[in-house]
Amino acid sequence: MSQLFNFSAGPAMLPVDVLKQAQEELLNWNGQGVSVMEISHRDPAYVHMAREAEQDLRDLLNVPDDYEVLFLQGGGRGQFSAVPQNIASPDATVDYLDTGIWSGFAIREAEKFVSRVNVAGQVQEGAKGKEIQSPKDWKLSENAAYFHYCPNETVDGIALHEIPDVKAPIVADMSSNILSEPLDVSKFGVIYAGAQKNIGPSGFAIAIVKKSLLGEPQKQVSSIMDYQLQAKDGSMYNTPNTFAWYLAGLVFKWLKAQGGLTSMGERNRHKAQLIYDFVDKSDFYSNKINPAYRSIMNVPFQLADDKLDEAFLKGAKEEGLLGLKGHRFVGGMRASIYNAMPVEGVEALLSYMADFERKLG
Ligand code: PMP
Repeated sequence: MSQLFNFSAGPAMLPVDVLKQAQEELLNWNGQGVSVMEISHRDPAYVHMAREAEQDLRDLLNVPDDYEVLFLQGGGRGQFSAVPQNIASPDATVDYLDTGIWSGFAIREAEKFVSRVNVAGQVQEGAKGKEIQSPKDWKLSENAAYFHYCPNETVDGIALHEIPDVKAPIVADMSSNILSEPLDVSKFGVIYAGAQKNIGPSGFAIAIVKKSLLGEPQKQVSSIMDYQLQAKDGSMYNTPNTFAWYLAGLVFKWLKAQGGLTSMGERNRHKAQLIYDFVDKSDFYSNKINPAYRSIMNVPFQLADDKLDEAFLKGAKEEGLLGLKGHRFVGGMRASIYNAMPVEGVEALLSYMADFERKLG
């Protein structure tokens, strides 16, 4: 079997160099004689590492000083409820774009905590495929406490590449596109992400929050989800997921060594373009998203006959190409090509796809 390439949507592949370093350090981290999981989060060596990880993330994203960077638990979905409880009052109206599966889940969670969730815009079928409604057709509320959207819908492979120009503070679920390209953080009120795609182990989450939004959280918010409390305690109000934080720190250092987000962005766009170009030229494979709204992280594609799906996946696995099955809600295939996926992985996938088409297409 050739080298393995893991196209899983998440938990997703991590940089091999990061895994090797974690392996080397597992039994004896930082000369402590024990693993990083076995020392106190109050230990000066751990605190030093944790603060350095935060600083590296701040450097990578150029996070302005008037933003808190929080390391939290509960993954992406944890933030679906943390956001309304922290930055909206129970009688507030909030605006959400409904662009796919994950936006839908975020909306249903927010409905528990505010009096009105207004769906301001949706996806639609256009002449060039599925697309997100144009901002001029969005129905924004007069006084929304915030505007929430998911710039990269992991399941649907649909993305909004422009940062919306709206009055309310913007909240973005960047679980599947954080750190994939340069970002102007100053345009956002809150950016959050579950870790298991571009950051590290699942269950961990990052929230980047504009300090001016941290007023009174709702009364019932659990303390571990209270942004203000966590900010005050350096994200160590409760015992953090110390291993995930450590691994995220290694990923941030790896990203810096790769040339930061400008170079990651170029690499990611190139990888995605290779697949879209191939699929667009083929009569056998298809992608149904309008090119202007295509994700550079998650590339769904369909075979001309879905009865061949199983054979495709079986053959792919034999070639060392893993995790290509589309999400159970939508079927088909999906290649997730996060930061850690090298261009060689994409080339191996395309070579397999061409072979499969030749034999069975
Ligand atoms: N938002 C997006 C965009 C996601 O892709 C996911 C997970 N695939 C989530 C939220 C939920 O994350 P978690 O499973 O960590 O709660």
